[in-house]
Amino acid sequence: MLLAWLLLLAVGLVVLAHLRTPALPALALLALYLIAMGLSGDAPGWLLVLLWLPWLTVALPLLLPHLRRRHLSAPALAWLGKTLPPLSGTERNAIEAGSVWWDGELFGGRPDWDKLLSYPKPSLAAEEQAFLEGPVEELCAMVSDWEIGQRLDLPPEAWAFIKAQGFFALIIPKEYGGKGFSAHAHSQIVTKLATRSGDLASTVMVPNSLGPAELLLRYGSEAQRQHYLPRLAEGREIPCFALTGPYAGSDAGAMPDSGVICRGPWQGEEVLGLRLNWEKRYITLGPVATLLGLAFKTYDPEHLLGDREELGISLALIPTDTPGVEIGRRHLPLDAAFMNGPNAGRDVFVPLDNLIGGREMIGKGWPMLMECLSVGRSISLPAVGASVAKGCSYVSGRYARVREQFGMPLASFEGIQEALARIGGNAWLMDSARLLTAQAVDLGERPAVLSAILKYQLTERARECIAHAMDIHGGKAIAMGPNNYLARLWQSTPIFITVEGANILTRNLMIFGQGAVRCHPYLLREMTLAGRAEQPGALEEFDTVLLEHLGHAVGNAASTLLLGLGGGRLDRTPGDAASRRYFRALNRLAAAFALLADLCLLRLGGDLKRRERLSARLADALSHLYLGSAALKRYHDQGCPREQHALLAWALEESLARAEEALAGLLANFPGRPLGLLLHALVFPLGRRHRGPSDRLDAQIAEILGRPEDDPALASLLDGCYRPQSPDQPLGALRQAFKRLTASQASARKLRTALRGGQLHPAPGTDPIAAALAAGVLDSAEAAALQAAEEARRRVIDVDDFAPEALRLHEGQVR
Ligand SMILES: Cc1cc2nc3c(=O)[nH]c(=O)nc-3n(C[C@H](O)[C@H](O)[C@H](O)COP(=O)(O)OP(=O)(O)OC[C@H]3O[C@@H](n4cnc5c(N)ncnc54)[C@H](O)[C@@H]3O)c2cc1C
Repeated sequence: MLLAWLLLLAVGLVVLAHLRTPALPALALLALYLIAMGLSGDAPGWLLVLLWLPWLTVALPLLLPHLRRRHLSAPALAWLGKTLPPLSGTERNAIEAGSVWWDGELFGGRPDWDKLLSYPKPSLAAEEQAFLEGPVEELCAMVSDWEIGQRLDLPPEAWAFIKAQGFFALIIPKEYGGKGFSAHAHSQIVTKLATRSGDLASTVMVPNSLGPAELLLRYGSEAQRQHYLPRLAEGREIPCFALTGPYAGSDAGAMPDSGVICRGPWQGEEVLGLRLNWEKRYITLGPVATLLGLAFKTYDPEHLLGDREELGISLALIPTDTPGVEIGRRHLPLDAAFMNGPNAGRDVFVPLDNLIGGREMIGKGWPMLMECLSVGRSISLPAVGASVAKGCSYVSGRYARVREQFGMPLASFEGIQEALARIGGNAWLMDSARLLTAQAVDLGERPAVLSAILKYQLTERARECIAHAMDIHGGKAIAMGPNNYLARLWQSTPIFITVEGANILTRNLMIFGQGAVRCHPYLLREMTLAGRAEQPGALEEFDTVLLEHLGHAVGNAASTLLLGLGGGRLDRTPGDAASRRYFRALNRLAAAFALLADLCLLRLGGDLKRRERLSARLADALSHLYLGSAALKRYHDQGCPREQHALLAWALEESLARAEEALAGLLANFPGRPLGLLLHALVFPLGRRHRGPSDRLDAQIAEILGRPEDDPALASLLDGCYRPQSPDQPLGALRQAFKRLTASQASARKLRTALRGGQLHPAPGTDPIAAALAAGVLDSAEAAALQAAEEARRRVIDVDDFAPEALRLHEGQVR
């Protein structure tokens, strides 16, 4: 009987905490239970004392706030003040930039799935759809990736078309002559362009991402907007944005570039302005830019504006024909052809009016950049990453059917299926995250942490997809030339890893480092209060937050155990037969993530910044929870189609396994081994549940990639991928070979059976199809179709070769 009492008590405690029952009713219930236990006579007196003691330890501080403040909250506040290093201005700006969205729900440990599912699904306006089907398709058809690489530039007609059709004006509102497109439309456009040419996408991406237009829209004065935005929209101005320099890469805040407030001559008058000196590099569109957005540190040594001498980072617009500006030279970023190069300024004088937003915005450059980055980083690079995965899915699925070795299509080998599955599964998962995050921007969010997750995850997974696609294609992807549709993509993938926050830094420092403070339901408030602990009211406010925080932590611990034991079944979740178990699994891992995030912060405090590998694992767990959420959202947005069950299962098995792996890695390296072991038992009471997609699931995904293009599952995966029809183009030839070979499968089978069964003995070196026709195994239509299919296959198999003299460098040629 006693055991039953104790067991019920333990279960009751965990359930009450899991249900986040408010403290006082929970304590009252427990008190009644302990009284009943005592009256039953089943428990010895000493045990009752042992049980009442913890009850009192919790109840007394709750019931006596003065006692609690003095003995719990005040020491905790002092400890926090000592443990957490004060936030630097730059860090505070980074943390406060942007907004918290679904990441906040995951951080809280109890995501509200109904909320996620009720967000509107992405859709295109008629005008946006027409632009995608018209000018975007047209622009794709105008260029060849190989030729762009050879001339190291887009063709002049493509430049003219880009400007004339408003490709640089996607985010500029209509009232300033722009397109005013949604983030979703913007993302769809970049995705399609990138499936045609990375250079094309990069050229269009930059003016629509972090750059003068975005900065002007958000911070510019009305006069600046009226002047520049129509010119940018029409392509009369080509913008670029220059932050990075030789001494300031990842640590952009360390830039030595300066702007000194001084008087100088401007259009015949002496005006207050800035004398600028800078050295920047890697600036996209820089070599052809007419308008340079510049970040620099501002100084006022003569006190022309006020008391302070160091005013912080500011942003200005510099026409590139201003005297002293040196611009035009090019880098060759891994042989990519989009414009990229260094620039410098020597004693360049501009009036204060050239500051974005005017003189009120002096010193506010860093938060301005961070805010804009949250939006641009949610769209451009994720679109490129998803496009790489889609493109690789398309060509690899087709090629693995067209190419045969050992008498069978490559797609029939399990090793190839594994690679195909990683490409296809990732493509669907990445696209789900792309769609959800662009939708967040359309809902008015500026998702700082989610944009970092997307940037990291989608560019890393793009790198994985292209590596698998290269493997599947073997030598076909190695031999460079106009028929190689993968090599240039492979070459340029590290570019996307490096830009907009290089990936190691993004994973190790930014996602969790920023997320912990930004998305945690209590931490930022606690840190802020710790920073002003001496002020009146701070302790009382901290006391309230701390109580809530403790309840949150206890609740998450209980949920972790309960959902871990019950496989998440004890929670109410939405979903159908295919998705419900995944909602449950995400609930379980979200609770575990929230608990471990709290404990890591408690154990390490500010030191977590230096323990980058722990921070990275927390970042991974959060990222996989987000990707899994995005996959579920997409499946439900599309009405839970049956044909997407395998794609959904792959996406979730992948996300859950990777999230578990990250948490297990964190616990194996947790500061304090015994605590790590204890937590491992709490987080994985029945062991790890997810090991990644099974071989069977992989085979299903690989099979989807080999289906005809109108198959609904494949169509959803390839949506937005540019697919030229003409067999004169390498992708068109691949498409044609696949179609013809698929259509003549029955004839090919007949021929094979006749050859294997000994009905047909073509003489060595003769054409078996002709022999089959002569022997009546195939009729003339079948033989012709099979012949045409084999010719198409041969066109795909062929690679480029060059006469030696064609490869010799001409005088003055760079390579
Ligand atoms: C093709 C291209 C286009 C670009 N376009 C622009 C542009 O238009 N405008 C612009 O201003 N900039 C641009 N950049 C610059 C880009 O943003 C920087 O390259 C990037 O910020 C990284 O700086 P870095 O190359 O100097 O690398 P570094 O800062 O030297 O970093 C090297 C490596 O160290 C890692 N690292 C650095 N610090 C840490 C840390 N604390 N913890 C862990 N790892 C760390 C980084 O992740 C990276 O892997 C472009 C770059 C390229 C290559």
